Parts: sequence; structure tokens; C-alpha cells
Amino acid sequence: MSYELDYPEIRAGVSRLCADFPGEYWQECDREQAYPEKFVNALTGAGYLCALIPEEFGGMGLPISAGVAILEEIHRAGCNAAACHAQMYTMGTVLRHGSNEQKNQYLPGIAEGSLRLQAFGVTEPTSGTDTTALRTMARRKGDTYFVSGQKIWTSRAEHSDLLLLLARTTAREAVSRKTDGLSVFLVDMRNVLGQSLTIRPIRTMMNHATTELFFDEMPVPAANLVGEEGKGFQYILSGMNAERILIAAECIGDAKWFISKASNYASERMVFDRPIGQNQGIQFPIARAYSQMRAAELMLHEATRLYEAGHNPGEEANLAKLLAADASWVAAEACVQTLGGFGFAAEYDVERKYREARLYQVAPISTNLILSYLAEHVLDMPRSY
Ligand SMILES: Cc1cc2nc3c(=O)[nH]c(=O)nc-3n(C[C@H](O)[C@H](O)[C@H](O)COP(=O)(O)OP(=O)(O)OC[C@H]3O[C@@H](n4cnc5c(N)ncnc54)[C@H](O)[C@@H]3O)c2cc1C
Repeated sequence: MSYELDYPEIRAGVSRLCADFPGEYWQECDREQAYPEKFVNALTGAGYLCALIPEEFGGMGLPISAGVAILEEIHRAGCNAAACHAQMYTMGTVLRHGSNEQKNQYLPGIAEGSLRLQAFGVTEPTSGTDTTALRTMARRKGDTYFVSGQKIWTSRAEHSDLLLLLARTTAREAVSRKTDGLSVFLVDMRNVLGQSLTIRPIRTMMNHATTELFFDEMPVPAANLVGEEGKGFQYILSGMNAERILIAAECIGDAKWFISKASNYASERMVFDRPIGQNQGIQFPIARAYSQMRAAELMLHEATRLYEAGHNPGEEANLAKLLAADASWVAAEACVQTLGGFGFAAEYDVERKYREARLYQVAPISTNLILSYLAEHVLDMPRSY
């Protein structure tokens, strides 16, 4: 299926590793809503999660296209990188805006696997998509910030040592532009957990280890402020293209998994003495999903190419995320329909992947907000909100 892509050795290595984590492993994690610890440890041990960390800090020093290859292969194999992908998409913010001291302090540990940077706290219950309306406040007293407030949907916080946190350092009423006055912190949760930081898990329709965080005057050393105070929104925005690109890669992997599962099943399943795949009513939805996946894949490569050339491919990264999430969802629908009743049986993995694929219509950015972005920033129409 499709021409072979870049990083063949990495793709083959990831694929071999994933073969040790078959459907039964994911079914059990899903049933128990358990974090796929063994899988994350295996990926860490093999070095894949440190692909984007520069070599001087112990990582592989590869560009984002390597992250694309790794995440796509994980999903193409039927596994799920949601347990560990944040380490890749938060890396740009740390590398671009973090101080040398911060990089020296944290990156070698992250690269060798003794530290996890898997939690990214932006969304709040009252602000939702309107990020600049977030209310969590960090107030500086001497060399320490004290953080109070709440986050929601902070995934993997229970399984991460570090949290990249966006908080207000100046109240929204006190800044002329609402995007000012927000700051990013690298929080070492080990120092504050169970004291000024409480983590409460949220049970969701798929196994995602997502949580709510409550901060009660949580101390964060001023040395852990990333970049300049008040510029955090720009730093997070600059990381968004990377996030969109990496999530699009996962969606492409999912789409390939669904298409492969559906086309194989359609060729083998005999009903009325012939394979169901001989019926155009079965073939066409799978072929259409394939065409959408290939188009999305091209946009993903274009976004990746521009990103690596140092451009700011907001349009292409958003398009890649939109098209890839749609392609994976269309492929998921076609796959369930092709498998008939078996599409609903846990042991076939399709229903699990179907639930997992649904997320990408909403997170990390919803389809509506991408369409709003395109309407306003690409097509120059009036802002709708
Ligand atoms: C499983 C899961 C994991 C997540 N992990 C993280 C994480 O690790 N870190 C983190 O910070 N966040 C995380 N999120 C949050 C995620 O990014 C948000 O859920 C998402 O951005 C949507 O925000 P919301 O849920 O507050 O929806 P809302 O902002 O309340 O929006 C609800 C609906 O209204 C639509 N809508 C809102 N405003 C407009 C508008 N102006 N025009 C048109 N439609 C609009 C949205 O598209 C959406 O469909 C996660 C979410 C989930 C479900």
C-alpha cells in the first residue's frame, strides 16, 4: 500500500517493535484503562521517543519527518502512540525557547528514558478552545512562581515527571492584547505531587490516561520559566504546527491500518459463495478511504517539507491535520461496515481503533477551529468568533 516512504530502517524497526504488542495487549490495556507501560518502555529503550532531541543531549537529533515516520508506523501497526507522543510535540517549545540550563538539566534524562516529558497543560474547563481566556495564574514572589488554578484533559500527567504548563502571569484585564501575559513553565511534578498539585483521572470512551489537574499555590522555581515571561502564547503557537503534523501522521497510520484490515477481510470473507469484496458496495468505500488517505498523506509531506525548510506552514499543517483526521475517520467507518458484526467485537480491534480515531475530530484541535483558521487566515474572510 502506497509507495515506500522515508526512513525505511526506522520504519522497519518500529514495525518490528510493534509486532511484540499485538491486539491482545491493547485490548487488555483498553479493558483495564491501563497505561501501556511496557509499550512506552520498549519505545523509550529503543530510542524512538528521543528522535527529536539533539545529539548533544543524548537524542537522535533527527528532524520532524523522523517523528512522522515513527508515529505513523506505530498507528499503522494497530498500536497507539497517544500514550507517549507529547514528548515529540512539546520538544520544539523546549528546544527553541528553553534556556541552556533547562536543556542541560532535563534533556539528557528524557533522552535516556529516566525522565518523561509527556504532559502538556493548556486546556481549562472554562476556557476550552479559547486558550487566552485561561485562568490559571502564576504569581512571582522572589525566585519562585506560585501557581493556582485548574487544567482539564491534561493527558498522561500520572505517567509523566514533567509538565509543560501554560499559565497567566498577568491578568487578561491588565494586558492590551489578550495573547500577552501568558507564560510557559517546565514543571517538575515529582516535587509537588500530592501537595500543591492534585491529579484526578478522567475516564473516557477510549483508553487515553487523561486527567484534571488542580494547582493550589504550587511552587515553580523561576528558573523553570521557559523563555520570557508573558510571551508563552507565542511559544505554544509556534509548537502547534509540529503538533498538527505529528497528529496527522498518526491519523495516516490509523487510516492505513483500517484500510488494510478492511481490504484483507473483504477479500477473504465469503457470503453468498463469493468474497464480499467482490461487491462494489463494499469495495468503493474502502477505495474512497484510500484515495482520501493518499491525498492527506501528500499534504502531510508538504507540511513537513515546509516545516523542515524553516517556514511557518500554518496552512499546510492545519490542512494535513484536517484531511488526515477525516481520512482516518472515513477509513474507520468503511472498516466497521466491511467487518459487519465482527466490526463490533473487541477481539478484532476495529471497534477499539474506531473509538481511538474519533478523538482526532476534536483534539488537539477541533475540525471547526481548523476551518475557522482557513477561512480567516488563508481566505481572508472575517473572523467568526
Ligand atoms: C482525550 C483528550 C485528550 C486531550 N489531551 C489534552 C492535553 O494533553 N492537553 C491539553 O491542553 N488539552 C488536551 N485536550 C483538550 C482538547 O485540546 C480540547 O478538548 C479541544 O481543543 C476542544 O476544546 P473543548 O473540549 O474545551 O471544547 P470547546 O471549546 O468547549 O468546544 C466544543 C465544541 O464547540 C466547537 N466550537 C467552539 N468554539 C467554536 C467556534 N468559535 N466556531 C465553531 N465551533 C466552535 C468546537 O469545535 C467543539 O466541537 C484533550 C482532549 C481530549 C478529549
